[in-house]
Amino acid sequence: MAPKIERIIENIELGEGPHWDISAQVLYFVDIFSKTINKYDPSTKKHTKAHFDTYVSFIIPVEGEVNKFVVGLGRHIVFVVWDGESDKVEEIKMLAEVDHQSPESMENRLNDAKCDTSGRLWAGTMGVEKINGQVKPNMGSFYSYADRKLKKHFNQIGISNGLAWSRDNKKLFYIDSMKGTIDQLDFDSSNGDISNRRTLFTFEKNQLNGCLPDGMTIDEDENLWVACFNGNKVIKIDSKNPETLLDTISLPAKQVTSVAWGGSNLDELYVTSAKFLVDGIVLNPPDHGSIYKITGLGTKGLPMSNFRF
Ligand code: CA
Repeated sequence: MAPKIERIIENIELGEGPHWDISAQVLYFVDIFSKTINKYDPSTKKHTKAHFDTYVSFIIPVEGEVNKFVVGLGRHIVFVVWDGESDKVEEIKMLAEVDHQSPESMENRLNDAKCDTSGRLWAGTMGVEKINGQVKPNMGSFYSYADRKLKKHFNQIGISNGLAWSRDNKKLFYIDSMKGTIDQLDFDSSNGDISNRRTLFTFEKNQLNGCLPDGMTIDEDENLWVACFNGNKVIKIDSKNPETLLDTISLPAKQVTSVAWGGSNLDELYVTSAKFLVDGIVLNPPDHGSIYKITGLGTKGLPMSNFRF
């Protein structure tokens, strides 16, 4: 059966960070450039959002709590209370500040983030976006945040993205979009250490030229689904065999930004996209800047973890 692609939300500027909340059975995501956190309930098809006054790069619910979230706001990891309905949040509390080491790095912002199965937050940063859509290179870093402590794992990152863990929890998959690769690292879930970063998949070697790896997720067969920014597609690659492209799902949107499994069986792939100017190229809605849902992919996702204090 061919996959079915549906457009579920339109007119998003830079959709990112889709997170399926298993307990509430709803999808959260951000629109970075519109500075909003968003909620979509597939059972009612209701879409709500709340506005901030700075770029917001991720929203992850707090485990076991209602209306409480960890959110990436500029260079700050913050705690937010939001009822999921209002266009303003009720409370914002600072948890940690990143990249404040120099005047140059203070132009950075947080980017993609996810939690591991212990509820530890993993979040990366990137350099400032210039007028033509280009990003100041090698300015970003990669952090974890747990037990109210921030830990920097590495720097010299272009655009911190990706993030998925292997089923046995022994590997972390990571993307620096500007490097054009999907990397893997050894992961120690007991203490949150990562080591031995090496390349799993190279876009150039697989004839994926002109596009960048962005967000990704993993399925129960341990294949990775990777959003291809500027590539009109999501690709499926083998996480256990290097440089192995398994499948390509074409999409009308050029700037495909991230993917997350959702639905009651975790067999629906939610895909975010964007429609912002890069090198002066105008991308019109609704093909561009929509949230898509893809079904009939013949597999299902591993569950996503919420944040734990
Ligand atoms: Ca991203």
